[in-house]
Amino acid sequence: MSKSFFIDTTLCTACRGCQVACKAWHDLPAEQTENRGTYQNPADLSFDTYKLVRMREEVIGGQLKWLFFPDQCRHCIEAPCLETAGDPAAIYYDEPSGAVIYTAATKGLNAVEIIESCPYNIPRKGSDGALAKCDMCYDRVGAGMPPACVKTCPTGAMNFGERAEMLDLAQKRMAMVKRTHPEAMLLDPDDIRVIYMVAYDPGLYHENAVASNTAYGISRQAALKRMLRPLKNLVSHLA
Ligand code: SF4
Ligand code: SF4
Repeated sequence: MSKSFFIDTTLCTACRGCQVACKAWHDLPAEQTENRGTYQNPADLSFDTYKLVRMREEVIGGQLKWLFFPDQCRHCIEAPCLETAGDPAAIYYDEPSGAVIYTAATKGLNAVEIIESCPYNIPRKGSDGALAKCDMCYDRVGAGMPPACVKTCPTGAMNFGERAEMLDLAQKRMAMVKRTHPEAMLLDPDDIRVIYMVAYDPGLYHENAVASNTAYGISRQAALKRMLRPLKNLVSHLA
């Protein structure tokens, strides 16, 4: 059974340790930040930022709440980006971890098509045309270590392990949090390997907190390509 994350946003303090640890492990450059009236920086994910702690201020039940959402690739179980690419040299599953991995060969793909296929708006294009995103620190995981973000998180918000263990932990935490926050829910837990728990309406945290434009986490475009692939294979076999 492959690995999964459980991200308990109710324990997140937005310290950004995970965001910085991700940069450090992947040797990614810093980005110019600016005061945009929010503590969130940079403004969005990018080719050089695979993990971003999104921050929103919302008035809920007459009280001001800070909602934190450590955003990253969900490592979909049937990844629409991978299905859309159809090129294992560019996008493939790392079998031991279940991570969806992008290589430099993504340069040869139609970047717009790949980006639009992702129901969570994750992949970002670099100046050379290649695409990048979180790789689950699959090199660390292969060596028996947790991803850098999980290792760094001081509050227990970021968790990682065998999928069954993470689903179990998620259910236990949700039962506990529901006592005070009846709206608490897990986001798309059956479709992805990065399972978030939120205490309020997920749309308040981030517009792509749950899968968009999809049926069961698979985009219409990727689903269509998947349906047509056996036909394409048959045609190339007969040619
Ligand atoms: S979240 Fe997006 S980029 Fe990540 S595996 Fe799923 S489709 Fe691909
Ligand atoms: S390290 Fe943990 S507490 Fe800090 S921002 Fe990331 S998820 Fe939140």
